[in-house]
Amino acid sequence: MNVIRARYLGMCFGVRDAIRLALQLPADPPVTILGDLVHNEFVLDRLRHRGIRSASTLEAVATPVVMITAHGASERVLCRARQGGFEVLEATCPLVRFAHRAAQELVRQGFRLLIVGQADHVEVRGITEDIESCDVILDAEDVERLEEHPRWGVISQTTQPVDRVLDRIERLRQRFPGSEVRWIDTVCRPTRQRQLAALELARRADVVIVAGGRHSNNTRELAATCRRWCPRVHAVQTADDLDPAWLEGASTVGLTAGTSTPDEIIDGVEARLRRLARADSPARMAALAR
Ligand code: SF4
Repeated sequence: MNVIRARYLGMCFGVRDAIRLALQLPADPPVTILGDLVHNEFVLDRLRHRGIRSASTLEAVATPVVMITAHGASERVLCRARQGGFEVLEATCPLVRFAHRAAQELVRQGFRLLIVGQADHVEVRGITEDIESCDVILDAEDVERLEEHPRWGVISQTTQPVDRVLDRIERLRQRFPGSEVRWIDTVCRPTRQRQLAALELARRADVVIVAGGRHSNNTRELAATCRRWCPRVHAVQTADDLDPAWLEGASTVGLTAGTSTPDEIIDGVEARLRRLARADSPARMAALAR
């Protein structure tokens, strides 16, 4: 059995920089991260061990310094934090900042803002909270419930698959043929690279393993992308979650990972896959699994 890694996988520079910043902070003054720095339990545990807390709302922050994650925050929240006397550390990814600027620019030019993404995702909320009124859609059917506007300005959550965004734009054009539609592409390059690499991998593999946090949106998206080409796709948080039975009869196993998955986790999953690959029978696989 061969084990192959996707050409691009794992942590993006935005998340890596945010984690580095958090881990380099001195213990004093204490810092609270607003929300989850990354959607990965392994990393969050490491931060907790360093005494870095997190809070889901500004009201729950009890430290003098508050850190904004790579997913960003709205100007409204940043202002409230500063006015509340907090020192604000921003680890917002530059590509998320680009999406904020794109949204603001479209609104300034008089377009009705349409975001392709998850309405309740922290990154999307960071954009919508600063805009008086806009629409957020995810599924194809969501286009049907939109009301007509003469000018649509479209952006997307940075981690959305490009083909989904293009599909929703096409449906929008078909539903409102008389409307102008302007799209600013805000899908980030690391997401694009990982999605394309995952597709390539899924075409070549009999089984695909996707390593990432249970709550990570882009890990889920990667798994969904792989399922389009390979029916045997399994998501794991760590190497311990691997079930040797998943690999039975496979000659090629592919490995990919979400943008919040640390290298140690990916290496651990790969190492265990390689050990299982060396096993020459299901019985031996089962023995290795113990
Ligand atoms: S997924 Fe993209 S936008 Fe989000 S933090 Fe990573 S590089 Fe930045």
